[in-house]
Amino acid sequence: MSNEKQAVKEITPQAEDFSKWYLDVIKKADLMSYSPVRGCIVFKPDGYEIWENCQRELDRRFKETGHRNAYFPLFIPESFFQKEKEHVEGFNPELPWVTEAGGEKLEERLAIRPTSETMIGHMYAEWINSYRDLPLLINQWANVVRWEKRTLPFLRTSEFLWQEGHTAHEDEADARRETLQMLDVYTDFVENVLAIPVIKGQKTPSEKFAGAVDTYSIEAMMKDGKAVQAGTSHYMGTNFAVAFDIKYLNRENKHEFAHTTSWGVSTRLIGALIMVHGDDRGLVMPPKVAPTQVIMIPIGPPKTREQVVGRIDELFAELKKAGVRVRVDDRDQSPGWKFNEHEMRGVPIRVELGPRDMEAGQVVLVSRVTGEKKTVAQADFVSEVQALLEQIHTDMYEKAKTFLHEHITPIDTLDEFRTLLENKGGFGLAGWCGSAACEEHVKEQTKGTSRNIPFEPAVRKETCFVCGEAAKHTVVWGRSY
Ligand code: AMP
Repeated sequence: MSNEKQAVKEITPQAEDFSKWYLDVIKKADLMSYSPVRGCIVFKPDGYEIWENCQRELDRRFKETGHRNAYFPLFIPESFFQKEKEHVEGFNPELPWVTEAGGEKLEERLAIRPTSETMIGHMYAEWINSYRDLPLLINQWANVVRWEKRTLPFLRTSEFLWQEGHTAHEDEADARRETLQMLDVYTDFVENVLAIPVIKGQKTPSEKFAGAVDTYSIEAMMKDGKAVQAGTSHYMGTNFAVAFDIKYLNRENKHEFAHTTSWGVSTRLIGALIMVHGDDRGLVMPPKVAPTQVIMIPIGPPKTREQVVGRIDELFAELKKAGVRVRVDDRDQSPGWKFNEHEMRGVPIRVELGPRDMEAGQVVLVSRVTGEKKTVAQADFVSEVQALLEQIHTDMYEKAKTFLHEHITPIDTLDEFRTLLENKGGFGLAGWCGSAACEEHVKEQTKGTSRNIPFEPAVRKETCFVCGEAAKHTVVWGRSY
């Protein structure tokens, strides 16, 4: 980008141009830089730390549910892709190939992994022999590459960071239980850590993962009403087991194919949390993943400065000891400048301390979400901060949930859906007959797609909103990132 060095002066208001707002905010908050390679971004420390905090929370949940981490190679031989027909058809257009290495043409091209079902399937065939080896529950933290046509920082990049869980089971029931369990783990993480409410459901056949029997997703709504697929979990049946020969001796001493699953979330979640919570002043970071949870700012004239900073350092140490991610901003800038700066970066709590607070033995806490000021006794500082971080999480979640519910509209016709997208925006909830042709028609006419078939729709619709035939499902529809 030629204007990389050109700082973003003013953040474009969301109502004026939401996409521009997003690009302004991520640059101004210093989360990323564009790389020289199309569609690939650099995660700067604040952007990367959000991911590290997500990783920590997710990893704990994966381990609590019995999974272990492993690491598989980046390169996948071409022949592996040929083994599962749907998988190769789905991923081929997005694969980058290594054809030469060490100055020589390779005998077999190597794909840079877009996902690792094939490599892991190959290894599982080797590792799994008996029912005693099952279930096999593995997760990998990795980078993957999909050569996307349209890209947008964090939300859709050509290289992205993610985790991919891959499990093998004795039978369908156990594999399906795992698939839904991991969807629940994602829901718990996205709602209780990122403060993003989601709609849980099943993807329609045309939107499912290439090679899966069933795909489930959680869908989130951005502030412009568009959807982001926040996480997916796939039941593969025996498709990959047959392709890679993942067979085991069952309890009756007979050979049987394993049933496999896979599930993933990516750095797309960073884009989602920005678009769900951010406002015209900048980022609003969910406390549980905020790189800085508390920023402490000294107030008052230079003559009291040393004393104030001394006290701030003591309070800082207390918070740090309690495990809060806290920083002090004692740079030579005005308090007003610092307030703006940290608001723009979305720091959940600002702490102000001046000479008068020192005398009164108090300290001022300001919430980024509500802007409310609260004066608390210094003796209660740590517990007050911890309580406020919890409160901010709840405030953010409730706000986003209200927005989501206010923007899900039951609809009966395609015209209604078109009008909805052009005016109020958000998701339409409509009956669908189950035909791919109707789904395609919606896409052509409105650029909206089926998001998922929610497990718990707010209403049930009896007829297809496209053809008027009896509805098989009630489906969430919307435009998406
Ligand atoms: P999938 O393997 O297609 O089910 O995707 C796994 C996860 O990665 C989902 O949460 C997707 O939303 C996310 N994802 C897929 N493509 C991209 C991309 N180009 N950039 C960032 N995240 C992605």
